[in-house]
Amino acid sequence: MLSTETRLTTVGKDIEKAAAILRNGGLVSIPTETVYGLAANALDPEAVARIFEAKRRPTFDPLIIHIADTFSITDYARDIPLTAPLLMKEFWPGPLTLVLPKTEKVPDIVTSGLSTVALRMPAHKITQDLLKILNFPLAAPSANLFGKVSPTRPEHVIEQLSGKVDYVLDGGDSSVGLESTILGWKEEIPTIYRLGGITIEQIEEVIGPVEKQTHSSSNPVAPGMLTSHYAPGVRLIIGDPPDPLPGIGVLRFCEKLIDFPEDRQWLLSGEGDINEAAKNLFFMLRELDKLNLKEVYIELVPEEGLGMAINDRLRRASAENTQNN
Ligand code: AMP
Ligand code: MG
Repeated sequence: MLSTETRLTTVGKDIEKAAAILRNGGLVSIPTETVYGLAANALDPEAVARIFEAKRRPTFDPLIIHIADTFSITDYARDIPLTAPLLMKEFWPGPLTLVLPKTEKVPDIVTSGLSTVALRMPAHKITQDLLKILNFPLAAPSANLFGKVSPTRPEHVIEQLSGKVDYVLDGGDSSVGLESTILGWKEEIPTIYRLGGITIEQIEEVIGPVEKQTHSSSNPVAPGMLTSHYAPGVRLIIGDPPDPLPGIGVLRFCEKLIDFPEDRQWLLSGEGDINEAAKNLFFMLRELDKLNLKEVYIELVPEEGLGMAINDRLRRASAENTQNN
């Protein structure tokens, strides 16, 4: 078996080739509507171990299992609360991950030894077609190095994981651009562990009030909960910029500042469209990273709907640099 150091990474649209690699215990980066995933056979502990190795992801950080259809959920989860099928009916396929008690079938390495498993049915057509021709589900975290910005295009995967993944299945740009919302049940109370592509309001419309438990600085239920995560190399600071000194940039929601050089300002969405802002977020953080700026001052977006998930990522991406945000 190849070690992760010696993999030849290729990019293409060949689903059969991706399936063959996965059947052999290899790693394939898969397109999803949220971000690109780094996938392996979820039922093969050795293949799953390669994901952790390639990402340099600590093994205490469990993975999401991607399934082909709603009914195969009972192969991997048990004691399913009555509200779960309501959510699945409304939001699957789509960016909602459900955390449920796991069955014996799920290897411990996938769940980092937890008795629960995170499950999702992705909406991207290519990955759905891939899942349909496999006779196993895919364990797949985001295809980036641990703690870094998530990939929304094939070239982002190459930038961080070239030589560590066998094949990148090209499905174009991720349409949502933010990770899935993660929801579990704590003593039967639906609880959001990570904000993402489905908003709290959307979920509450279907099952009523939910709890939110998305912050933890150590031993998180979901490491997307770690205070510092999704971090680019450039120093990000939430707040208004000081004088426009060289090397200082600005990332704002939809309107440029009048008294700051135009060419050092970036907008998440010129139209003020929150979906476009979500889609652009990780891409822009990567682009800003390449410009050798000293500091980038960030404006948070309106704290509602998808804006809550965007602000969550911005706060974590800047966590080491911004005080009291
Ligand atoms: P990623 O796919 O890299 O965005 O990471 C997957 C996220 O799912 C991480 O934040 C995990 O902590 C979370 N996750 C996976 N399994 C579980 C679980 N059993 N309970 C809670 N969170 C989970
Ligand atoms: Mg991730």
